[in-house]
Amino acid sequence: MIGSVEQVVIVGGGTAGWLSACLLAARRPELAITLAEAPDIPTIGVGEGTWPTMRETLATIGIAEAEFLSECDASFKQGSRFDGWVDGSAQDSYLHPFTPPPPGDMAAMLQAWRTEAPGLPFARAMTPQALVCDENLSPRQRAMPDYAGALNYGYHLDAGKFAALLKRHATTRLGVTHVSAQVTAIADDEQGKIASLCLHDGRELAGDFFIDCSGLASILIGRHCAVPWVDRSDVSFNDSALAVQVPVEHGTAIASQTIGTAHEAGWIWDIALPTRRGIGCVFSSRFMDDARAEEVLRSYIAVKVPGADIAALRPRKLTFSTGHRERFWQGNCLAVGLSAGFIEPLEASAIVTIELSIKALAENFPRRAETMGLLADRFNQLFRYRWDRIVEFLKLHYVLSRRTEPYWQAQRDPATVPARLAEVLELWRDQPPSVWDFPRMDELFCAASQQYVLYGMGFPVPAGAADPAAAQAFADVRQRSRALAAALPSNRTYLDALRPVADADPIAMHGAAAK
Ligand SMILES: Cc1cc2nc3c(=O)[nH]c(=O)nc-3n(C[C@H](O)[C@H](O)[C@H](O)COP(=O)(O)OP(=O)(O)OC[C@H]3O[C@@H](n4cnc5c(N)ncnc54)[C@H](O)[C@@H]3O)c2cc1C
Repeated sequence: MIGSVEQVVIVGGGTAGWLSACLLAARRPELAITLAEAPDIPTIGVGEGTWPTMRETLATIGIAEAEFLSECDASFKQGSRFDGWVDGSAQDSYLHPFTPPPPGDMAAMLQAWRTEAPGLPFARAMTPQALVCDENLSPRQRAMPDYAGALNYGYHLDAGKFAALLKRHATTRLGVTHVSAQVTAIADDEQGKIASLCLHDGRELAGDFFIDCSGLASILIGRHCAVPWVDRSDVSFNDSALAVQVPVEHGTAIASQTIGTAHEAGWIWDIALPTRRGIGCVFSSRFMDDARAEEVLRSYIAVKVPGADIAALRPRKLTFSTGHRERFWQGNCLAVGLSAGFIEPLEASAIVTIELSIKALAENFPRRAETMGLLADRFNQLFRYRWDRIVEFLKLHYVLSRRTEPYWQAQRDPATVPARLAEVLELWRDQPPSVWDFPRMDELFCAASQQYVLYGMGFPVPAGAADPAAAQAFADVRQRSRALAAALPSNRTYLDALRPVADADPIAMHGAAAK
């Protein structure tokens, strides 16, 4: 294949498809981008927690923050809280916030934490974000420029509304062509690269480069290119979820973090949006059946969402394979989103992987067909590294647990723990996680994330010397926590002010004056 690469065809109109279309169109305006989606094949419709990377993504594609927040019924996400993961007791809770600990020597910070405030949760000692989350506060004030914050943050959002916003933005403002049709066949050229897609209405879509965003169907990279699947279910056991949306009354507090509550064979996600909570029970079908999962889910909602009409809830069952492709970029086809892989929703690593995939593609876009193989090899190496780190980081949450149910015991079986994770855990007995363990640019879960989980779950602090600079950094966090708690509005106040007055709650509006 000789010639320039100008025509890009994306298959799939879920979060992966429309996010890819927007990002690529914004970063490579010289490309002609067409997105084909089957009107009768629904999107997965979940995926409601993002990373802070989403702020740069939205700014890059040119969507104003207030427009995004109000169109997508979105709220701020400042991290994840884990309840019941260590031993399942009532006090068992820790936070993995998005704002890292103060810069400097973490070994010394750990000593300061141990000596000065041994009872304080690790996250509370390391960042003002913990107090801000406890008080359901926003990470920013209205007057700040778009996407700037006093603390690092991402979003919770309505996945259906998000895809609709991206679709409108891509087609009306970024020049993306939308084709509503199912792809029924794929034609190769004489070198074996994809040349065109055949649509169910007889049309044909030719292209130079194809992005497979067809979700779990994986019609290009999986079915057509036959790139093998790497099964990771030996490490990551969860393969099922029951999801519901629970309406909330006006004026109720909006949590600042995703809440993940452990149960006997998995965990429950709880994501607060202005008008509803998205709640789902994630579980392993090897250890729990659907009926028991539904019981666990309903009991959680009965306790955590007062006034919810439990009998009216109709949970939706989702099943997923745990793993990823052996290669993500094959020939002139790149897999993005669920077609590339999925490792359970813990820590919401999927949408950020979509963003990073398109960033890597846009910054290394093959200008000529001749360089495609080289760029594909690079991409595949980088993303294999990233998937391996995701698998290990998620497993860390289970390996450190002391829960006693069979599922949790099985999670700690050394035969299920990746070798690199076992190695670093050994090392972390002597020194805290650092850039030496996670040296790459754009590490998905950097040393700070590992520290929050490790010390949040009670991993022993390595021996070390006290340091006055660390004690001072510690005192600064306390002082800044108080200042931010006094200055930031509540999530409810901030978000209600973006909605039409008739829609907003007078009690919450009154609260705005108080904050
Ligand atoms: C239970 C659960 C919870 C999750 N929570 C999170 C989270 O909190 N945060 C996060 O980052 N991620 C989360 N994810 C992952 C997230 O949902 C996905 O990564 C994201 O929605 C992207 O999906 P997608 O676009 O790849 O696939 P889909 O949404 O399934 O879209 C597939 C698209 O392909 C189209 N299509 C399929 N076949 C054809 C064909 N033959 N021709 C044309 N079009 C076709 C469909 O019409 C559809 O438009 C979660 C996933 C699950 C299962």
